[in-house]
Amino acid sequence: MQATFLWLLSSAATAGQLTTNQYGAELHWEDDYVPFQLNPGGKHGLDHDEIESVVIEAAEQWRGIDGSWLELSYEGRTEAETYTSGDGVHAVFFVDEWTDNPDLLALTYTYSYEDGAISHFDIAINTDGHKWTTKGSEDSNDLLNALVHEFGHAVGLDHSSDTEASMFSQTSVGEVTKRDLAEDDVLTYASLYDGYFPYPEASMGCSTSGSSNGNGSSVSGPTGAGGGAYSPFDSSAGCSLVGGSGQMVALFAGLLVAFRRRTEDS
Ligand SMILES: [Zn+2]
Repeated sequence: MQATFLWLLSSAATAGQLTTNQYGAELHWEDDYVPFQLNPGGKHGLDHDEIESVVIEAAEQWRGIDGSWLELSYEGRTEAETYTSGDGVHAVFFVDEWTDNPDLLALTYTYSYEDGAISHFDIAINTDGHKWTTKGSEDSNDLLNALVHEFGHAVGLDHSSDTEASMFSQTSVGEVTKRDLAEDDVLTYASLYDGYFPYPEASMGCSTSGSSNGNGSSVSGPTGAGGGAYSPFDSSAGCSLVGGSGQMVALFAGLLVAFRRRTEDS
């Protein structure tokens, strides 16, 4: 009954936060099966097979939480390399020419319906001026460390003020402490998915879509999906940037959230 115990614990106060969309709804998955793919390409110098192992291991951290019904499932490699919901591929990919804040090591883009149900995510890793390692090298950013954090965003978590948490927003070169979920991460996750457990039958029919980030620079929305309104979202709510002091100069994951309205499936 460990699982039950976990869910009961979830009412305890945590430092972790949940991501809410502009309608105030908590981001969450309603589908229990969440596939994702990897595009290992890029100028990172890493072995593609080792990247693949790391990506799978990162997702497993969340998938493996006792009592969780959310099945993050690796479905092989993809050529996808953009954060768009239009391709239908939940992709992890590397960006050699990063156009966002150069201090950001990675970004998770999450799309949700008005009620908070997540419809899509993509994870971008910044290789533009940032060194990465799959083996915990002290002079590089640890890929597993980063991806555990990013997958946390992909399942609906926001940053935690708990410095031990994988969802703590800051990191430093060589850090590996986010590789394993802290109690705070698990409790925050449980507090979210307890509310959707057992999961309701999902009706994911949608006809409109759009996206925008909070910086005013537009992001291409999916096309051909019915002309949805573009909804601006203050991305600063997802990630506060703190830089320059000591080694804690790098940040994980700003969060860019775009919204798709849920409509009745015809
Ligand atoms: Zn983050």
